[in-house]
Amino acid sequence: MTPLAGILARRIRAEGPITVADYMAECLLHPEHGYYATRDPLGADGDFTTAPEISQMFGECLGLALVQAWLDQGRPPQVVLAEIGPGRGTLMADMLRATRAVPGFAEAMGVHLVEASPVLREKQRQALPDVEVTWHDRVETLPEAPLFLVANEFFDALPIRQFIRDPGGWRERRVALEGEALVFGATDPAPLADLAHRLEDTGPGDMVEICPSLPPIAGEVARRVGIHGGVAIFVDYGDWRSKGDTLQALKAHEYCDVLAEPGLADLTAHVDFEALAKAAAPHAAVTRMTPQGVLLERLGITARAQVLARGLSGAALESHIAAHRRLTHPEEMGSLFKSIAYHPKGTPPPPGFD
Ligand code: SAH
Repeated sequence: MTPLAGILARRIRAEGPITVADYMAECLLHPEHGYYATRDPLGADGDFTTAPEISQMFGECLGLALVQAWLDQGRPPQVVLAEIGPGRGTLMADMLRATRAVPGFAEAMGVHLVEASPVLREKQRQALPDVEVTWHDRVETLPEAPLFLVANEFFDALPIRQFIRDPGGWRERRVALEGEALVFGATDPAPLADLAHRLEDTGPGDMVEICPSLPPIAGEVARRVGIHGGVAIFVDYGDWRSKGDTLQALKAHEYCDVLAEPGLADLTAHVDFEALAKAAAPHAAVTRMTPQGVLLERLGITARAQVLARGLSGAALESHIAAHRRLTHPEEMGSLFKSIAYHPKGTPPPPGFD
């Protein structure tokens, strides 16, 4: 039993079963035993690898998309360059390197990182040694200014609630105790206004998920883009309207039981891109959901890969070619991962999006 399992068992004994969202929040961000609060989970020695850790080309392409949007919007003089959930800081470092050659951008922007984990904030500091960075706990404290923002694999780490369709309404999945063991249970069925639109595409026994903290965060980003200008690009794994149980645990690059080792495994769920679009709609224009592979191809990843390949040979060249394939190929990350962007209403979509 992990230390966090003991804490959760005591809480459930005292308060009764907890929602999946409560369970996820404790597992990921408990100040002492939470997964992100206590470790750097990324890379070959960690539990999972993300696009910016696979190749510098990912951050270069996204950086050029942001800076092109900045040029297209008339080079606003004081802008916020921001990332939510920056991990090791690799994506921001690659974006900054790729945009350095664009006259005026470095002088116009300040770098802002929204990060909950003290361990990862320290990693980010090390990855960006010569950069003046302002860290934030939440997007609400970013300066009110044109916002050029990216987030990769951030929303998949936010806690979700799970509901099972029942003839009598929806039963919410809960984490309960059986003896000393954490087990899944469910509430009695009840109607739920928030899920009225899911009655059309589900039947009894189907599971749907909602991420309660997604709309406030995405809505706040869209509000700023709508009022001040800028662009926000989100990349994550998921789909339009997720269906079924997508909660998964990953440890040392292997799937494991979601309830087995709370605090020691990464927990994620598919991101519902419809929710990302809906949260932004009152404030900003939203692009079509675009597969990661398509986005990166449109942003010129293959030409960039060819340039980088010229300096490589042997194993380094092979691993470079494999990285390009991993990021773009439909059987790898190319289609499972999707992207969507917010831009000011009445302006064309940012580069890479229709
Ligand atoms: N974007 C990085 C890391 C993805 S992992 C990459 O692509 O490599 C998820 C990131 O989101 C981590 O940095 C984690 O600490 C951060 N995070 C998770 N929940 C958060 C929250 N509620 N607020 C801010 N950051 C959070």
